[in-house]
Amino acid sequence: MVDDLQENEDIGPISNIPSTSSPSIRSKINLDDLPSDPANRPPITSYHPNQIDDVRRAYLVKKAFQPRGHNFKWSNYSSGQRRFSVKWYDKYDWLECSTKQEKAYCLCCYLFNGSVGNQGGREEHIGEVNSVHNNSVQKCDYLLNQKRSYEANVTKNSNEENIANWYRLLGSVCSLRFLLENSLSFPGHNESEDSFSKGLFLVILKLICENNPDIGKYCLGNAKKNNKLTAPSIQKDIIDCFAKEVTQRLCEEFKDDVFGMLANEPSDVSQKEQMAIVLRYVDKCGVVKES
Ligand SMILES: [Zn+2]
Repeated sequence: MVDDLQENEDIGPISNIPSTSSPSIRSKINLDDLPSDPANRPPITSYHPNQIDDVRRAYLVKKAFQPRGHNFKWSNYSSGQRRFSVKWYDKYDWLECSTKQEKAYCLCCYLFNGSVGNQGGREEHIGEVNSVHNNSVQKCDYLLNQKRSYEANVTKNSNEENIANWYRLLGSVCSLRFLLENSLSFPGHNESEDSFSKGLFLVILKLICENNPDIGKYCLGNAKKNNKLTAPSIQKDIIDCFAKEVTQRLCEEFKDDVFGMLANEPSDVSQKEQMAIVLRYVDKCGVVKES
């Protein structure tokens, strides 16, 4: 690295993320109004998991907070007096500086490392190829490119294709929701077209298609063979989404209150174990609930 700046115009140490108050769980976030100054930002992990990537993208699109008009104060170091120099912004696009605290921060490490990061000077902070900082920079690039490829796909698809995909997904979600709500098993022994034992997931999806012409128009036999959105892996993805939603809702109900947990792990004849968990708690209205 060529240091073409004067010794007294260094970045100073890259600071750790300050912990300001956290946004409430899954509150509505205005992505155009995220705190700009690093000293005012809540820890990135305090955002709801469903919103965290949107927040990261919004910060990456806004780019690092690099105020230029600010008159930075001189500070005493063992090597003499120093102050932050805005010239370093041109060299490092991840570098940010809080005007509130007059400290340097790293946007990439804030977005992907929460409060952990190498807090040394710029070279120590960047570190080796596999350093915390370089991994964060890579994750930022990946997140932005992922968004671009998703947008490119949606734009590339015709409007009719997007509508068809939406109805296909809706059909699968409705069928799985019914099965989960009623604790019914869903995989069939053989989910192929000519099977007599397709399993409840496909049977209910067929029923939905027969009774809802909008969904029926795009699903099952009317969908392309490679885009039916009924594969076991898709079913599993949708169930995972339900599980996250349910867990989130339960956590919101407990808040910081106490709850009882009962776990049991019986095994079937093939010694395959299945764990069942029951949570017992008093909800906001004072009613005892078991989930
Ligand atoms: Zn960093």
